Amino acid sequence: MSAGRNAVITGSTSGIGRGIALKLASEGARVMINGFGEDAEIADLLTELEKLSGKKPIYSPADMSDPAQIETMMRLAENELGGVDIMMNNAGIQYVSPIEDFPTDKWNQVIAINLSSAFHTTKAVVAGMKSRGWGRIINLASAHSIVASPYKSAYVAAKHGIVGLTKTAALEVAEFGVTVNAVSPGYVLTPLVEAQIPATSKARGISEGAVIQTVMLANQPTRKFVDIDDVAATVAFLCSDAAKGITGSNMTIDGGWTAQ
Ligand code: NAD
Repeated sequence: MSAGRNAVITGSTSGIGRGIALKLASEGARVMINGFGEDAEIADLLTELEKLSGKKPIYSPADMSDPAQIETMMRLAENELGGVDIMMNNAGIQYVSPIEDFPTDKWNQVIAINLSSAFHTTKAVVAGMKSRGWGRIINLASAHSIVASPYKSAYVAAKHGIVGLTKTAALEVAEFGVTVNAVSPGYVLTPLVEAQIPATSKARGISEGAVIQTVMLANQPTRKFVDIDDVAATVAFLCSDAAKGITGSNMTIDGGWTAQ
């Protein structure tokens, strides 16, 4: 249970991060959310989070591609929450293109948001977690941290990289009551995935329906999208004391995709 814990969840105005914020708040955590979106939608989410946890949530609009903004966000979290117990690195974007046409600025952006932002937040929270003798750092990786798909070079590189960061950080803090783990979903139907359907359709020259059936769910033996709630439940478990012996792991929630 995350009752009484303070949690920062990056990229939590939408999709999986939003689901994780709601789950941790429902267990009694005080949360800081982050990400982009309409003011009214963010205000509604903050109201819902406060109702669930009974504690006032915080919002940071920091851009995870900018180390200076990440530093400001982490300072705000320390000052307002009085210490970060759970650091959930979830923010991520996708860009789909054959490697010979892959724009260099898109490569840099995907690596910055999906990989480097987790280094910056981890660097900011580790000392406090070690001194308090308790902490959870969880990195949202992907089945693409284990296997590749064509046209996703930056994303696959970032997701493989974040597993390396997870293992390294886990070893450095293992004796201090702090665990560091990755969770790796298969396809979850969120705005990020919906946006990939037309791009993948164009890159492969097939219809959008065929992308869903023959590209996305063809990889997933269950032939079903993974539920956001199932990812959030796994994160909540990793935050619990029952998971104190799990560190440096990469937990798949991919309907059997990477077992093949
Ligand atoms: P999403 O697009 O629904 O949500 C992404 C969130 O990140 C949003 O809140 C958005 O505002 C925020 N964000 C984007 N760029 C940002 C930036 N520069 N700074 C701060 N916040 C930013 O995506 P999602 O599908 O929920 O993905 C969340 C995570 O899960 C990502 O790391 C993604 O790679 C990973 N993932 C998703 C799937 C899937 O099938 N949806 C599968 C495996 C892994």
